[in-house]
Amino acid sequence: MITAYISHVDCELHEMGASHPESPQRLQAITAQLGASGLLEQLDCLTPTAAIRDQLALAHPGSYIHEIEALCPRQGYNYADPDTALNPHSFHAARLAAGAVLLGTQRVVSGSCHNAFCAVRPPGHHAEHASAMGFCLFNNIALGVEWALQQTAVERVAVLDFDVHHGNGTVDIFKDRPEVLVCSSFQYPFYPFRYQDIQRPNIVHTPLPAGTASSAFRQAIERDWLPALARHRPDMIFISAGFDAHRDDPLGQLQLDTEDFHWITGLIGEAASRYAGGRILSVLEGGYNLPALGRSAEAHLRALLEAH
Ligand SMILES: [Zn+2]
Repeated sequence: MITAYISHVDCELHEMGASHPESPQRLQAITAQLGASGLLEQLDCLTPTAAIRDQLALAHPGSYIHEIEALCPRQGYNYADPDTALNPHSFHAARLAAGAVLLGTQRVVSGSCHNAFCAVRPPGHHAEHASAMGFCLFNNIALGVEWALQQTAVERVAVLDFDVHHGNGTVDIFKDRPEVLVCSSFQYPFYPFRYQDIQRPNIVHTPLPAGTASSAFRQAIERDWLPALARHRPDMIFISAGFDAHRDDPLGQLQLDTEDFHWITGLIGEAASRYAGGRILSVLEGGYNLPALGRSAEAHLRALLEAH
C-alpha cells in the first residue's frame, strides 16, 4: 500500500512579504525534514497540475474566482484582507494547491494510493464560500470533498481539522450539508472569531483554552470526535492538517508536542480503517515554527504510512 506526497515547487512562488509567517520556507522545511529522515523515499511523490476554473467552482462562486484572479498584481502586493496578500504568482500557486487536493482525492478514491498528504500553500481552511481570509484564498479541502461527493461513489465524508485555528471556511461551506461531518479543534477564544458557536448536527466544535497540553487535548478529541465518527460512518476522511497547535508555534498558545500529531493521525487512521476503507486525504494548513513544522509533518506522514 502507498502513501502519496503531493507538492509543487511553484507553491513557493507565492509570498506575502519578508516578515510574513506563512512563508515559502514552510514547504522547504517540510521537504528538508522528510529528506533527512529518509521518509521521502518511502512516499509516492506526485506533482499536481493547476486546478481549472470549473474545479474551483466546486466550492466557490465564479464571481469570487474572478475577483481573486483580478486581485493578483502584476508587481508588488494586493491585499485580500489585512493578513492575506497576493503577489504576481499567488493565483497560480492557489490553483496548484487546489489541484494537489483534487489529484490526491482522485488517487485515494481510485485506490491507486491508500492515503495522501498535500504539502501545499496557500492554505485553505479559513477561505469561506465567497471570501478570502487568514492567509487562505480557496478552500482546498472543500474542493476535494465536493469533487469526491459529486464525481465518485463517496456519499458521506468527515473533515477533521486539528489546526490551532477554527476551520471557519470549511464550516461556512458545509454547515447545511448533513453528508459532511466537520470536526474542528481550536484554541478558544481566538482568531478567526467566526462560526465558533454555530450549532448544527454535522458540526463538532472542540474549543481548547490557551495552554492546553497533550493529555487534555487527547481526552477532548476522544470525547468529541470518536462518537461523531461512529455516528456518521464516513466513506472517506479528509484532514485539515495544521501544525500550529505545537508548543513552539509563534501564532498559537496551545502546548502540543510533535508526538501528538503522530497520535491524532494514528487515531484518524484507525477510524478510516473502520469506516472508510482506509481512505484519507490530508492537506497542510498552518504551522509557523519551521523546525517544529518539519518534525510535526514527519510525524503525521509516519502515522499515515503506518495506517496501512
Ligand atoms: Zn492555523
